[in-house]
Amino acid sequence: MARDQMKYWTWQQAFDGTWQKRGHTSINGVAFVIDLETGLILDYIRLSKYCHLCSMKASCSDTKSADYGEWFKDHRDSGECQVNFFFSFLIQCPTLN
Ligand SMILES: [Zn+2]
Repeated sequence: MARDQMKYWTWQQAFDGTWQKRGHTSINGVAFVIDLETGLILDYIRLSKYCHLCSMKASCSDTKSADYGEWFKDHRDSGECQVNFFFSFLIQCPTLN
């Protein structure tokens, strides 16, 4: 691409997201990137604080045991775990003024 053509590649984008329920209790959400000029969604990701397999395993295991820790590491590293949002503590922090 010629240098003088690059001036037309100035995208203005916004990043936003929302959760299924209000009050910081939701386990499902979505975050997306919007092109401000066209209003089109350029990309999105589903957010989840819940994994059914983790929940089932925790309900019948000692979560402080080495076996559970090993299972959890393998589960997470395999990409099977549905949890992909770990920052709920940030939402609960007081606003800095
Ligand atoms: Zn999981």
